[in-house]
Amino acid sequence: MSTKSFDVCVSGSGAVARTLALALAADGWRVAWAHLAPGEQGANGPDIRTYALNARSVALLDRLRIWPQLRAHATPVQEMQIRGDGRGHLAFTAWQQCVPELAWIVDAQALERLLGEALRFAPRVQSVPALSHAGADVDADLLAICEGKLSASRAALGVEFQRSDYGHWGVAARLKASRPHQGVARQWFRSPDVLALLPFHDPDPVASYGLVWSLPKARAEQMLALSPEQFEAALNQAVADADPDAATVVGDLALASSVAAWPLALARAERWSGPGWVLLGDAAHQVHPLSGQGLNLGLADVDTLALVLAQSRSAEPWRLAGDERLMRRYARRREWPTRAMSGVTDGLLHLFADERAPLRELRNTGMALLDQMSPVKRWLVGRALDA
Ligand SMILES: Cc1cc2nc3c(=O)[nH]c(=O)nc-3n(C[C@H](O)[C@H](O)[C@H](O)COP(=O)(O)OP(=O)(O)OC[C@H]3O[C@@H](n4cnc5c(N)ncnc54)[C@H](O)[C@@H]3O)c2cc1C
Repeated sequence: MSTKSFDVCVSGSGAVARTLALALAADGWRVAWAHLAPGEQGANGPDIRTYALNARSVALLDRLRIWPQLRAHATPVQEMQIRGDGRGHLAFTAWQQCVPELAWIVDAQALERLLGEALRFAPRVQSVPALSHAGADVDADLLAICEGKLSASRAALGVEFQRSDYGHWGVAARLKASRPHQGVARQWFRSPDVLALLPFHDPDPVASYGLVWSLPKARAEQMLALSPEQFEAALNQAVADADPDAATVVGDLALASSVAAWPLALARAERWSGPGWVLLGDAAHQVHPLSGQGLNLGLADVDTLALVLAQSRSAEPWRLAGDERLMRRYARRREWPTRAMSGVTDGLLHLFADERAPLRELRNTGMALLDQMSPVKRWLVGRALDA
């Protein structure tokens, strides 16, 4: 029997913390949500990112009754076209994969806002100020740390965050195109940069995109310093260089938002759990956004932790929420899926970063071959749908 005021203290202010607090409260746990006020989160303006959410994330948000409202801010992806820096080409369609859609592209800001509104009315969730200092005592059996990549609570626990910097920044913006996107997500591996256009419905219901462009840091800084007109010219040129058909399929791209950038790294905490504490989301692992899986991995962490706790409550009711054995169970279940996803994205990035001609030929041939192999493609999509 717990002597604490709360079963779980969820520390963090992003989508992973919010979803976890809601999921645990829905399962009947007493939750303290320790978060920063909006002005304290260090962002310079509204988050202009769009996220690709997979089927598992959507199912979780649906169970928490967030999805019915978020759907109004989401666009389904019916097809994904990936091009290499030669004749390599890979296409996935929802129809071939026998799924209604490959992913949903959602507005990052709308997701956090809707989660925040649901938390205000959630029974069993008490909103409390962020922990006063790293390592502060919490009046809960479990401290669930969802503080993102710079987590101070993780550092206070002495957990090392093994980080390898890509030397790239992820440049993001909202775009409007002169041609309809038709639900097609496009990605070009341009060596060394990777450019992705995610179909979206805002501001134009049928011809908007979310841009995610991974560029070497120096080039990203140059892009950020450009005027909107210069940025648009450079972007349209990059797309035209990457794809001779771009003019007909994408048309002209114009900015529909400000431009922002994030430094990109591959990172992983050396331990994800201990007695009375656990790490989730970017506080535990960070991947390159080329696969659009960072948040999906974080939401899968949430789903798994909620399940481990729920199973234990019915099968081993004597265990408290922070029981180290339960936390190890959670960490074991998340080990392989996150390692696999980090490995695939990191491998692809390194493969396409190498400018040597034989390697270039090999990777493009590999892509073309993979495109012919339906079972392998189905397996790859299966992994991406269920991070
Ligand atoms: C350009 C770009 C595009 C991306 N696209 C995708 C995509 O398409 N699909 C996808 O799945 N992922 C994508 N990602 C990854 C995704 O953004 C992250 O994986 C996700 O935001 C991680 O969520 P989080 O809640 O764990 O961490 P964060 O979003 O970093 O949130 C943590 C929050 O906690 C706050 N905080 C820190 N310390 C404390 C404290 N002590 N107390 C309270 N709060 C604290 C931080 O200020 C922050 O607001 C993308 C990333 C980038 C950079």
